Amino acid sequence: MIFAPRGYNLNMLLSSYKLEKFSQEFETKTPQEIIEWAVDRYSPYIAMSSSFQTQSMPLLHIMSQIAPDTAIFFINTGYHFWETLLFREQIAEQWQLKIVDLYRDSRWDVFVRQRMRSLPVEDPNLCCFLHKVAPMQKALKGYKVWVSGIRRDQTSTRAQANILEMQEDGLLKVNPLLNWTKKDVQRYLEEHNLPKHPLYDKGYRSIGCSPCTIAIGVNDDERAGRWAGRGKVECGLHTDMFRKKDISESKLEFHTDLSNMDNAGKNDDEGKV
Ligand code: SF4
Repeated sequence: MIFAPRGYNLNMLLSSYKLEKFSQEFETKTPQEIIEWAVDRYSPYIAMSSSFQTQSMPLLHIMSQIAPDTAIFFINTGYHFWETLLFREQIAEQWQLKIVDLYRDSRWDVFVRQRMRSLPVEDPNLCCFLHKVAPMQKALKGYKVWVSGIRRDQTSTRAQANILEMQEDGLLKVNPLLNWTKKDVQRYLEEHNLPKHPLYDKGYRSIGCSPCTIAIGVNDDERAGRWAGRGKVECGLHTDMFRKKDISESKLEFHTDLSNMDNAGKNDDEGKV
């Protein structure tokens, strides 16, 4: 079986055998080597996502040195800490990053504004789908490769990931930091004297949206402050939710009954994201 990344350049095609072989070989390669391979093969059809927290800095730094013109997707949920937005501006200017802000589909604006405070608490899966998953699915439609900064030591879901993952629609996900640990991140930050997110030293070790992030203790699990007490550890970007291209396929994960809504564009192109 041949996996065909979006587009028609035959040099870009990877058989399932080659994909697995490369992915296994990359287990012993550095993030720099993996990114160089991806850039050589797929540029300019590569985009990277970043949440601009402290542990995002190494991958952003590496990408800014290897392929500074790469589009960096920042999911602008409207729920970020001001510190995150200011930090993002500082890093973008300092490293000359090409940041692309992603927003929810505007047809959900009325729905979200009516539930601005309650949605992240009462239906975080739907909230994450509208603000993160759907905008990312839509933005990546024009790209062949998505570079993500996930690591195996972060969550049980991420522990099962591969360095190269081909999605059914032909999008190749590349996870160059998959083998890194918290210590590797720390070492890179120190070796390159990289800046930290302003909230990091206040106990915010993993930082997402403000309603879903709390400060934690120094010995707590890195992501313990994300959706704490809500039985949720992933936003959906790195789970099966991302592979489902129509909102109706994820409805069992939502508390809100969307069946009577007519503003969600469920069956047209926008609704399919
Ligand atoms: S992290 Fe929280 S506020 Fe942000 S999109 Fe997900 S549920 Fe909504």
